[in-house]
Amino acid sequence: MTELHDLLRPVFDDVVARNPGEREFHQAVHEVLESLGPVVAKRPEYVDAAVIQRLCEPERQIIFRVPWLDDRGRTQVNRGFRVEFNSALGPYKGGLRFHPSVYLGIVKFLGFEQIFKNALTGLPIGGGKGGSDFDPKGRSDAEVMRFCQSFMTELYRHLGEHTDVPAGDIGVGGREIGYLFGQYKRITNRYESGVLTGKGLAWGGSQVRTEATGYGVVFFVDRMLAAAGDSLEGKRVVVSGSGNVAIYAIEKVHQLGGRVVACSDSSGYVVDDAGIDLELLKVVKNEQRGRIADYVEARGGGAVLGASGSVWDVACDVALPCATQNELDEAAAKALVGGGVRVVAEGANMPTTPGAVRLFAEAGVQFAPGKAANAGGVATSALEMQQNASRDSWSFEYTEGRLAGIMSDIHDRCLATAEEYGQPGSYAAGANIAGFTQVADAMVALGVV
Ligand code: NDP
Repeated sequence: MTELHDLLRPVFDDVVARNPGEREFHQAVHEVLESLGPVVAKRPEYVDAAVIQRLCEPERQIIFRVPWLDDRGRTQVNRGFRVEFNSALGPYKGGLRFHPSVYLGIVKFLGFEQIFKNALTGLPIGGGKGGSDFDPKGRSDAEVMRFCQSFMTELYRHLGEHTDVPAGDIGVGGREIGYLFGQYKRITNRYESGVLTGKGLAWGGSQVRTEATGYGVVFFVDRMLAAAGDSLEGKRVVVSGSGNVAIYAIEKVHQLGGRVVACSDSSGYVVDDAGIDLELLKVVKNEQRGRIADYVEARGGGAVLGASGSVWDVACDVALPCATQNELDEAAAKALVGGGVRVVAEGANMPTTPGAVRLFAEAGVQFAPGKAANAGGVATSALEMQQNASRDSWSFEYTEGRLAGIMSDIHDRCLATAEEYGQPGSYAAGANIAGFTQVADAMVALGVV
């Protein structure tokens, strides 16, 4: 890990001591503090007045029991979480993750990152995150519905369109948002569209929200390449994952003239040199809820299942990690650099380990952190909230144009801030500093609350 500024080292030590065992949360805090040396050198009051210390402590952490009945009539018990991290800029905003690996440390890392990401969008949203250790894989629709209803029966009291507005994340897509919204509506007797985002188009959802995170990552990469006088045309691209973010990243790469030659899921990866057949991938993953091996079988020749190693062993110009945290480590980074990668942009949250980030910097690979590159999802969620508030619905073209504009602004803001603080070209430093200063200044203005 990179050494921290003298003023920040005790802040980090305190975070570790107060949040024992929460490895991912420590990592996320360290990654931000690493960038803030030049900021506190200029403005030591951020530490003296405990602004950073307050930022590292969530405003509220909710943990609750989620009991539900499975299809055989047996009672199951899961744990639910919502961490309302920071509301200096607006209502808490951030997704819900349903995955067996979810525990408080994961929710806190995601909520912490969300604060800065949301600030970077330039829209009035605070940071939060939630979820459960519930595993939707292999569960029937009826089981998923009963789980969502039980989850919302506890969580609803903490939500509201001006208070806390969840969305989807891993394991939470349109189906789950529907069940969650239905239960919220029933309990509160209010049609409060703005309380959840990622809704279906027929009941308050926004065009482009489904596509937004994946499209946004690729818009960001397009701007990175353009800044270097290049484009996506003809580029070989590797994407990890085959969920929401991955699928729409693949779609936009293909629209902009690149070719995605490999993708994955937690069971393996596929190499398809002719370019991933996206319509087929959507059928296999979204409709059949199948595994990546099913894609290879259905493709009927051309595509092969990776025999060993990982998706990062496939040579490419651009790599987009779009699956999960810490999925791209130093060994994977070495393989990518060996394969000629020039740009890495995070579609997932914190998929690249600190060692891998360092290796990319040493090799001159351009690296875009998730809090900048994947901000398109939450930005479009905020656009969904705007449409709900004005009881309006915008066209696909208009909404996509807004998303592209927001991604371009984030890109330019990262570069300008990195330059201002003496780290030209570092998207990571630019994103952390720009996000931090905006939230920190709002916190100072609002007093000690
Ligand atoms: P999905 O559940 O739709 O997809 C996740 C994908 O990642 C699946 O293909 C899954 O495979 C794969 N995956 C999960 N864990 C692993 C693992 N350990 N190794 C390899 N592959 C794995 O989630 P999303 O696409 O929504 O989210 C992906 C990432 O993007 C997450 O980090 C999320 O926080 C982040 N993100 C999502 C946003 C959104 O709008 N959805 C917004 C911003 C960030 P399998 O099916 O086998 O589990």
